Amino acid sequence: MDIAVIGSNMVDLITYVDSMPKEGETLEASSFEMGCGGKGANQAVAAAKMGSEVLMLSKVGADMFGDNTIANFKKYEIDTTYVEKVNGIASGVAPIFVDHDSNNRILIVKGANQHLLPADIDRAASKIKQCKLMVLQLEISLETVYHAIDFGRQHGIPVVLNPAPATKDLDFKSVCKCDFFIPNESELEILTGMPVTTKEEVREASLFLVKKGVKQVIVTMGRQGVLWASESTVGHVEAHDVGAVDTTGAGDAFIGCFAHEYVQTGNLKESIKQASAYAAWSVTKRGTQTSYPNRLDFMNWKI
Ligand code: ADP
Repeated sequence: MDIAVIGSNMVDLITYVDSMPKEGETLEASSFEMGCGGKGANQAVAAAKMGSEVLMLSKVGADMFGDNTIANFKKYEIDTTYVEKVNGIASGVAPIFVDHDSNNRILIVKGANQHLLPADIDRAASKIKQCKLMVLQLEISLETVYHAIDFGRQHGIPVVLNPAPATKDLDFKSVCKCDFFIPNESELEILTGMPVTTKEEVREASLFLVKKGVKQVIVTMGRQGVLWASESTVGHVEAHDVGAVDTTGAGDAFIGCFAHEYVQTGNLKESIKQASAYAAWSVTKRGTQTSYPNRLDFMNWKI
């Protein structure tokens, strides 16, 4: 096993509309698509598509969305031993409405994701201990995230924390226990309360976190690339100049590929560069997991 992803899964229910219905109104929409998503699942799929052996810890409902999610993990050869069904609770879903100007309205129903508990990590202990890296996000309960971080520390497994979606309630002591802290700009802004519009501002906010005890900050900045900072180094890579079609899930593509590369090489800068290129590919295609390339296609990509 290479990577343990402990996190969420959601089924995206995307309705394309000409206009949004008003209260009490029924309208015909132009089309509908369903897709597998959720930050944890996306990151697991990206790492698996790059060739990592991935263990997923996640909860689904005992419904068709849960079956669909498990089948999707299996399609990418992700270990689903600990993707468990919760009886009487719906799977996590994200009803999304997209109008013809590509404006989104998104609802997140966490459902079964809220039932991934600290005790689930202890039950999966022997499998998690075989992994070389742990990857976490914040679409599950914070209590479970903190327990996973402590488990990683206790067993010498490096921990990647992607603080998304951002919350001010995040316990800073737990953040300092992680090996890699990977927010995007807006998450960095919410966590530090500092401005993050320019590269210089992102650098300042990252160094502020480093001074407070965060080991390695890596900030994804959309078209402005990626900036990283630790006590010993600060660096930046530009984003690749690609025609962006759909940037949904770019951050998850970055995390999944970073985790894969870091496990393979242990080289921080090279892993960031590869992950940045991988995320750039993902924005050139529509969709989330479907926009992530597999290893062979990615290696043959001439940017
Ligand atoms: P999130 O999806 O969390 O908002 P970002 O928008 O920061 O994450 O995107 C993650 C990474 O994806 C960026 O650091 C960059 O490497 C790549 N990326 C995102 N948008 C673009 C773009 N328009 N062109 C090229 N690369 C992009």
